[in-house]
Amino acid sequence: MRVRTLAALLLAGGLALTACGKEGTPGDTGGSTGLFTVEKDVKVEGSPTFDKVKARGNLIIGVKEDQPGLGYKDPTTNKYSGFDIEIAKLMAAKLGFAEDKIQFKTIQSAAREQAIINGDIDYYVGTYTINAGRKEKVGFAGPYFQAGQDLLVKKDNSDITGPDTLKGKKVCSATGSTPVKNLKEKGLVEPENIVEFQSYSQCVQKLLDGEVVAVSTDDAILKGYASQEPEKLKVVGKTFSNEPYGIGVAKDDKALRTKFNDVLQAAFDDGTWQKIYDATLGKSGAKAQHPAVDRY
Ligand code: GLU
Repeated sequence: MRVRTLAALLLAGGLALTACGKEGTPGDTGGSTGLFTVEKDVKVEGSPTFDKVKARGNLIIGVKEDQPGLGYKDPTTNKYSGFDIEIAKLMAAKLGFAEDKIQFKTIQSAAREQAIINGDIDYYVGTYTINAGRKEKVGFAGPYFQAGQDLLVKKDNSDITGPDTLKGKKVCSATGSTPVKNLKEKGLVEPENIVEFQSYSQCVQKLLDGEVVAVSTDDAILKGYASQEPEKLKVVGKTFSNEPYGIGVAKDDKALRTKFNDVLQAAFDDGTWQKIYDATLGKSGAKAQHPAVDRY
């Protein structure tokens, strides 16, 4: 896959982000995450996660690494970039952690709840849909973005036009994701025609190789892949679910959830969210509005 063009684009996005919105200076004692001022003397009363990270002195944040525009790890620099990464860094800064105190850890869709339950990560930001089933195991701050399930097909495909045209076709999605669950539960694809992998990039490779005819997941993710191969791939553009993205935290850590919701609300209100969007996903020209925080 042609990742270099997009990596360059994203890098440019990252630079623009730094240039236009930087508030702290590199000499600040608290350091800087680029766009965001790193808070000092932060307290999050009653948060077991915060107590743990304070004692440890760094943050371990679960993310995706193969979703261009959202969570993407550059294979040459090993640097992570994208909308989700910036949201993760914003939360870190408001907890008092500069960028050099963040360790990103790639966690695939199927492994997220367990990674949070085990405490392998302090929080998770990676196209993580808030839903009732997951809320039984983990907590969610947010939502901070609203996506919807869509389809990615070859550019010359004319028979897949929406979810009702998938019968008899091989469709690929990621194990443990809401889109794959949706395909099964709504009976949109016969079980034997659903192909599952741990990551969507594996699905995209199968689509390019002609082994499946569609990849199904959130529109935001699929647009990133389509922009990598604009001559070969297109997004159908008919969403058929609501995927509100949340920040995954430990279920019992209500204090951290509240803190993140406060930070999100401030970012919605003062234009920070918009700056993050414009510098990452918004580079494609697509417009988006932030959703409303849900303090359940
Ligand atoms: N948002 C969906 C989910 O959380 C699909 C994307 C993903 O697998 O991360 O399952």
